[in-house]
Parts: sequence; C-alpha cells; structure tokens
Amino acid sequence: MIEKVLIANRGEIALRVLRACRELGIATVAVHSTADETAMHVRLADESVCIGPPPASESYLNIPAILAACEITGADAVHPGYGFLSENARFAEILEEHEITFIGPSAEHIRMMGDKIVAKQTAAELGIPVVPGSDGAVETLEDARRIAEEMGYPVLIKATAGGGGRGMKVARSAEELDNAYLTARSESQAAFGNDEVYIEKYLDRPRHIEVQVLGDGQGNAIHLGERDCSLQRRHQKVWEEAPSPTLNAEQRAEIGEIVANAVARLGYSGVGTVEFLYEDGKFYFIEMNTRLQVEHPVTEQITGLDLVQEQIRVASGAPLQYRQEDIRFAGHAIEVRINAEDPQTFAPSPGKVDTVHTPGGLGVRVDSAIYGGYVIPPYYDSLIGKLIVYGKTRTECLMRLRRALGEYVISGVKTTIPLFERLLKEPAIQDGLYDIHWLEEWLEANREE
Ligand code: ADP
Repeated sequence: MIEKVLIANRGEIALRVLRACRELGIATVAVHSTADETAMHVRLADESVCIGPPPASESYLNIPAILAACEITGADAVHPGYGFLSENARFAEILEEHEITFIGPSAEHIRMMGDKIVAKQTAAELGIPVVPGSDGAVETLEDARRIAEEMGYPVLIKATAGGGGRGMKVARSAEELDNAYLTARSESQAAFGNDEVYIEKYLDRPRHIEVQVLGDGQGNAIHLGERDCSLQRRHQKVWEEAPSPTLNAEQRAEIGEIVANAVARLGYSGVGTVEFLYEDGKFYFIEMNTRLQVEHPVTEQITGLDLVQEQIRVASGAPLQYRQEDIRFAGHAIEVRINAEDPQTFAPSPGKVDTVHTPGGLGVRVDSAIYGGYVIPPYYDSLIGKLIVYGKTRTECLMRLRRALGEYVISGVKTTIPLFERLLKEPAIQDGLYDIHWLEEWLEANREE
C-alpha cells in the first residue's frame, strides 16, 4: 500500500492530488521552488521540501533534488501531476530503481507514446483509426516534397518529439512546403533537442475529441467517455466539455470500445487520454497522453469517479474496481481555464492577487490554488484556476457558467474571465458548433482596439 505521496508539481494540480490523498488517508509531501514558498500546496501538505531556485529546470524538473526529497521524507510514491516530469520515462525508471512507486504508467508505455511516430504506428496496429500520413520520419526535403505531393495538400509537418503545439507547420501548397519543413525541424530542434519530423494530412475543420481511459496493467481497461476540447488558441485548449456536443451515445460507445480494447491489449496501467481529430463523422488518432490531463474534472463530473484516486489505486497494484457496464454517464460538464493573462492580448499577467472571491452553489467546482495576497510568480504556466460547471444538460451548464463567471472575482492581475463572458454570447458557442479553428478566427474578427 502507498502511505506517503510526494507531489512533484505545483499550483492547482498539486492541490488536486493532495485532496485525493487526504481522502484516502495517505500522507502528502509538497516540493517547491524558492519562488513558491508561500504557495497553497506547500501550506496544505503534511510536509514540504524546497527543491531549488525558481527556474523549473532547477526545481520541478530537478530529478536528484526530488529523489533526495523522497529520501528525507520517506515518501514511498510520487505523483507527477501534468507537465513537468509527468511524461518523463527516465524519471519513472529512476523511481522504480529506488523502489518508489511512480503514480502513472510504465516507463515503457510513456516512452512509446512520447515518440509520436511509434505512438501512431502502435495505435494503428491496435485498430485505432489514425490520420493518413508518412510511414515514420521524413528525413529529407526531397522525401517531404514527394510524400506531400502523393498525399495532396494541405499537409502538416509535425515534430516526433512534439508537445504543446510546438514544431508544427502547415503547408497549403508545394510553394509553402520547403519553408514549413525546414522551420518545423529547426523549431523542434530548439524546443526538444530533436529535429525528427513526420508528415500528416492536414484536416481542414476538425473538432478535437479525446477519450479518457483507465487501465490496471493486468489486462483490464475501461473508457470514461470523451471530452471535446475544440476551443483552442495556438493549439492550447481553452475550454473543455464532456460529453462532446456532436457525438451520440452510439458513437461514444463505438470509439470508446475501440480505445479501451487497445489499451487493455497494451497492458496499460493508470489513466491516459487518446486524442483524436474528428471530421465528417470520422476519428483520426493524433496522440496519447500518458498522464492525468488538465481537463480531467469534466470527466469526473459526468462519471462520478475520482481519477486521481483511481490512479493511486492501480499504482498500488489493485485491479480495476469497475467494469465498463458500471460506468454511467450523467449530465454535462464544462471547464474553462482561468489564466493570469490579458484577455485580449494573452500577455502573461503575473503579480499580486489582491482579492479572490470564488463562485459556489449547485454544480460549481473551482480547482485553484490562489488566494488573496498571493503573488503569482512569473516563472511558470499562467493557469491559475479552472472553473468547472456541471448540469443536467448543456444548456443548464451554459447558464450556470454565465452565473459563476459573474461571481468570480480575482483582482490585482488580469485574467481570462472576461474572454469567457464574451464567448458565452456567441451563437456558435451556445449551439456547440465550433471546430479547432473557430476560436482563433473569432479572436481575429473580434479584436477590440
Ligand atoms: P501536441 O503534442 O503538440 O499538442 P498534437 O498532435 O496533440 O500535438 O496536436 C495539437 C493540436 O494541433 C490538435 O489539437 C489540433 O488542433 C492540431 N493538429 C494536430 N494534427 C493535425 C492535423 N493532422 N490536421 C489538423 N490539425 C492538427
């Protein structure tokens, strides 16, 4: 059994993990950089250890310091949250070598899915539909030209090591190809230290729909339905909901079953997300994330499961406690990401938060680690909270979201709250009729001078 979890993260997700541990009666250790001494996760954890200076590379990504913190506190497991070390296969391996449980899948599965070409080949072999594209890496410009020509434009050049939408370039015609190919390679080299790229058919107006899975590494896996994350800015999700406004129960069961079977065959352990683009009624695999996602709460709201507690259970060796038929989907949930950013320009807005008033009431959940007087450090991601609303129907959710946004007060820094208030007035949002490009186009058309 796991007795003490070190949470190798910060912000709202550190708090989220801490809450799950506390309910299970598991002790918690927070780690923090010198910039996070007064952070909420540090205040609420049973113990805390400073692991380095502000830059993440010297603190939250500092494996020796995190190992030392496990040693000092006697933590027998590590929860990596999302981002930072959550998809670092080497980290999972090192923990295993030290007989510390990594709350996540095996190093082998992290590595497999971290290489996008291997991930795509594996998905295809397991019967998951994938985006048409090159078989593996495209090594030369000549090959890139030939493959793009055969596939037909537009095409997308993607980094094998990619993440966060970086190292991705569209070529709409042969004229654009050389530049797109070379830029994708150099961007990828700069961002990931690896310039390998591959080519995919560029889907024009898809939605982003992802399937949540849970496996126990003992051959059992279930799906927990989908999330629609089509509202994106620069390939970053802004608003996520479950279920997708476009899928019906039959389509959900069909794709869910394909994915759950694939994950069971892999022997995958823990939570994972299989991401698809969805166009004209068809799913196209793009990647699998081998960790908890930012947007996991919407799935929790409609299934009633605590995904972090499930992660902890399977990491401690327990078999899945649910079969697929035990999972019931009820209601609708929407999450909006509250970032400390200018809602027009999206420029980061760190600094001191004067007051915080968090909305409440029926069907409202706020996952956030800020408080009045807290100073948002400039070193990390600008996500400062997630507002999640739940209702019987999507319409009820939208009404509730409007009400909750109206109650939410965060003063002293700029936030994206006003963006969501504006978005709620749009017919496309009301009707759920948007694809992955909708938000960028709307922002372009509605720029306030
Ligand atoms: P990352 O790991 O960098 O997030 P993904 O493969 O998950 O990369 O893609 C991120 C986003 O980029 C998707 O949500 C989608 O908006 C866009 N995208 C990826 N592949 C394609 C494609 N073949 N056609 C159109 N858009 C794509």
